[in-house]
Amino acid sequence: MARPLDSATREALQARIRFYRDLGLTEFYRRPVDAALLTAEPEEPNEPVVLQEEPSIAPRKPIPSAPPIAAAVPAADRVAALQLIRDDLGDCTRCALHKGRNKLVFADGSPNARLMFVGEGPGADEDAQGLPFVGKAGQLLNNMIAAMGLKREEVYIANIVKCRPPGNRTPEPEEANTCTPFLFRQIDVVRPQVLVALGATAATYLLGQRQPLAGLRGRIHAWRGSQLIVTYHPAYLLRDPRQKKEAWADLQIAMRELGLKPPAKA
Ligand code: SF4
Repeated sequence: MARPLDSATREALQARIRFYRDLGLTEFYRRPVDAALLTAEPEEPNEPVVLQEEPSIAPRKPIPSAPPIAAAVPAADRVAALQLIRDDLGDCTRCALHKGRNKLVFADGSPNARLMFVGEGPGADEDAQGLPFVGKAGQLLNNMIAAMGLKREEVYIANIVKCRPPGNRTPEPEEANTCTPFLFRQIDVVRPQVLVALGATAATYLLGQRQPLAGLRGRIHAWRGSQLIVTYHPAYLLRDPRQKKEAWADLQIAMRELGLKPPAKA
């Protein structure tokens, strides 16, 4: 007889089922699932639904070209190489974002990840914990990672800027341009096979070009030795859950490149 689930496991399972259900994968689970889990209503975010496409940002200064790709770092040396970048950052005051910072958010995940996600910048929860994607958007990202058949510990997660912009505003070009050289160094160390840019800000500063998100999604960009895929930011998906199917289509491109099998339907 099945053991009752503890509340944390039950909550995680509910979140994953909701994400699959949002994607239309309602027949994913082969094993019987507690009916109460399937009928649990998702928490609705307080923010109003945004109908228009996630906007691209308008840099006031040119985006500098990315630095040359650094030499590959052997897997055994990647932890030390990433620590060196963290040490170089130190108690960083290179841009104005340091003034409102509680904790600098460096990254989270495996230095040997084949899949990396890059978001925009820390929010309140991330600033408090010093880890990327740990709030509501982070929970959705965890569900997306789980839907791909991976664990969060198996991927690498970072942001364009490492300090929280005031009021969660979009980073200013000067802030992003000051911070991204450290991100590029991290990417060069991890050297993921697939890199997913979450949202217009990440896509703009990684690719060095300003384009509407719609023009960047749905295809693979060859970038710094990785295959870069652009999709919506989880925070945007929380505001407009109807776009989750589009995001899932983007993630399936990543899965195909990584040789991951999509979840089987019963
Ligand atoms: Fe330094 Fe980046 Fe923080 Fe700016 S956002 S203070 S460059 S770590």
